[in-house]
Amino acid sequence: MGAVQKEWGPYWNPVLETLRHEKIRKLQLEKFKRIFKWTYERSKFHRGLYEKAGIRPGDIRSLEDVRRMPMVEKSMMRDIQRKDPFPYGDALCVPLEDVSEFRQTSGTTGQPVYQPDTWQDWEWWAECWAYILWAQGYRPSDRVFLPFGYNVFVAFWAGHYAAEKIGAEVVPGGVLDTQARILKIQELKCTAMMATPTYVLGMADTAQNKMGIDPSSLTIRRITCAGEPGASIPSTKKRMEDAWGAKVFDHAGATEIGAWCFECEAQPGGLHVNEAFFLVEIQDVETGEYIEEPGRRGKMIITALDREAQPCVRFDSKDLIEWAAEPCPCGRTFRLIKGGVVGRSDDITKVKGVLLAPSAIEEVVRGIDGLSDEFEVIVDKVGDIDRIALKVEILGGRENERPRIETQLKDQLRLKTNLGYLIEFHKYGTMPRYEVKAKRFKDLRKGH
Ligand SMILES: [Zn+2]
Repeated sequence: MGAVQKEWGPYWNPVLETLRHEKIRKLQLEKFKRIFKWTYERSKFHRGLYEKAGIRPGDIRSLEDVRRMPMVEKSMMRDIQRKDPFPYGDALCVPLEDVSEFRQTSGTTGQPVYQPDTWQDWEWWAECWAYILWAQGYRPSDRVFLPFGYNVFVAFWAGHYAAEKIGAEVVPGGVLDTQARILKIQELKCTAMMATPTYVLGMADTAQNKMGIDPSSLTIRRITCAGEPGASIPSTKKRMEDAWGAKVFDHAGATEIGAWCFECEAQPGGLHVNEAFFLVEIQDVETGEYIEEPGRRGKMIITALDREAQPCVRFDSKDLIEWAAEPCPCGRTFRLIKGGVVGRSDDITKVKGVLLAPSAIEEVVRGIDGLSDEFEVIVDKVGDIDRIALKVEILGGRENERPRIETQLKDQLRLKTNLGYLIEFHKYGTMPRYEVKAKRFKDLRKGH
């Protein structure tokens, strides 16, 4: 007993993952009504919001009605916390003694938000991640290495539990340093791992240049990324896949939302939204209109339909996404978002009057041969004029290619971002290396 009973078919849940779209919508509506009622009855914070907006659970008869409900912003969650019931405040919908997990957001700006989960919520996290891992080809025969610091951030905690849940073998690489982690992967012949794109590239660099080990000679065949958009940026994905000789998959999730979307083995150039567990709405940032059609970008408003301790109901995620036009060849009916999370509405900045998304710069830098994986962008003002500097590293032995690289960089950056850059070349190995989320974009202008 205790063995995983599922057959090794293509889907973790063959019913939900192939449900007709109308049926998924019906399921979402029923689940939405339930979570609305739950928060209305149990959270002073949510009830206050709803009463102010004059909306009650009985008023929701369709998914269009959902749009009349107020959104929740991260700053609101910050304001209610550190109060009773300590430390979560009055969005907590369960008695304090039912909370079994503490996590906090890892955002770089502002006070972190605390996130309580019950044991049932924690099972839900693992279930959502099981969809991800199964879709990316993880099976009970895999030995999965987790090279991350197990701490207060949710990071790959749920990936760990989901790997166990699907029956794979888990090797926690917690406090080991990068070299020790690589040796452990080699020693145990691990077949899969989970890490941020920055760290996947950093590990490959350490293996190759400090240890003389070609990472593609190791046995890692699939890598699941999170925390940064890199695995959905084609040039970064290719660098990771080439270095490790592995398939690299993206997934997106957040502490206060859950693991809401994932790339499947078909690698269709987008991510499936797990629509059985999440309701995703896309809203035009300028006009406030709701977007149903493919190809139009907007910010995501998301509801976690099953999370009970501190629910996520119409959360304004600030993530920019758009629906893909074509269904995925894998057969899942969960809709695809094209190119993953393509940016954040609060990351997009105006430089010389032009809208700039940092991910566009990453795509260019990582696509150029002769540069390392590191780069940094600094926006400042000289007098009244915005200036944008890009720091890159040339690989050892390739310094004579600098003129070609500089021309290529400038041309492609202009094409992709409509801006001119001051390019600074640094010697290989001299720029900072990041272990988790990289800070590559700095805006030094006033008001930022
Ligand atoms: Zn698919």
